[in-house]
Amino acid sequence: MTQNIVKFIESVNNLDTKSYSRLKEAIEKRDSVKFVSYMLNNDETEVGRSCPHCKSKSLHKWGIRNDLQRYKCKDCSKTFNVLTGTPLAHLRKKGRWLAYAKCLIDGLSIRKAAAECGVHRNTSFRWRHRFLQNANQIKPEKLSGIVETNELIFAWSDKGNKKLRRKPRKRGYKSVKHIPSKSRVFTLFCRDRGKNTFDDIFLKFSADNLKPDLSKLLTKDTLFCSQNKAVYLKYTKENNVRHGVLSIPKRESVKKDVVHIKNVEKYQFDLQVWMERFRGVATKYLHNYLSWYREMDEFDFKISPETVLIRAKRPERYNTNHFR
Ligand SMILES: [Zn+2]
Repeated sequence: MTQNIVKFIESVNNLDTKSYSRLKEAIEKRDSVKFVSYMLNNDETEVGRSCPHCKSKSLHKWGIRNDLQRYKCKDCSKTFNVLTGTPLAHLRKKGRWLAYAKCLIDGLSIRKAAAECGVHRNTSFRWRHRFLQNANQIKPEKLSGIVETNELIFAWSDKGNKKLRRKPRKRGYKSVKHIPSKSRVFTLFCRDRGKNTFDDIFLKFSADNLKPDLSKLLTKDTLFCSQNKAVYLKYTKENNVRHGVLSIPKRESVKKDVVHIKNVEKYQFDLQVWMERFRGVATKYLHNYLSWYREMDEFDFKISPETVLIRAKRPERYNTNHFR
């Protein structure tokens, strides 16, 4: 073996340029598979790891397959690897995952990301939504201090769906006012001054529908700031919430210095500018895009590909209910 490797290394010197770059590429590919696998295998401590089938913590190590550590559960005898039960389970070509995470951070389209990572566009599509699946569940559970709230209306989109519920439209709506009420999708944004942001999607924007989210997020000490829209007025009145109200008719933007919603408005504006590159997103994936933007904002747009991947791997923590 040792002699073979010495001979092999010597022969590398004799390779022509084309063969040498092929060899280099193969080594880089192997290294990135090893690196990603190492990262995934070592993400959780042995103490924290549990069986995805029965949650038992008593496990045997059960060999390594496809560079991933396998385990056997002492209680239910089932085997699993570090990705079983996570959104990354059964995805292939691990060596390109970090490059793909980088494409997500850079906001590349499905096609551009596919070209960049040398995968098919269907793979690119599948990876995008699997990588973002967990981001949906990583939202603040509480907000503090001044909570700026505002909503944004999107038009229902069946993009990518071959069976349309309506006649095809040539262009989007001129403005929000032109979106028929039946086709409206509402997104709620709550942002506190510590830059923690919560968002959710609603087909009907009513005080009752907002209640489950807001009652969880707001505490006795928070000051809820919004425009004086009926939905917010009704919610704050019914639930006894401290409310900093901004009146719309007077175009009031700041009241008593602290009561304003400029931060959440900026967040919404930047989000919309960022979303333009995707040229409309299907409503069924809207929560993925909102979460993706929220995740990058949480890291001040300096999130690393490694963090994207580790967050994508962690099993579901909370259940969120979309489209109330
Ligand atoms: Zn088990």
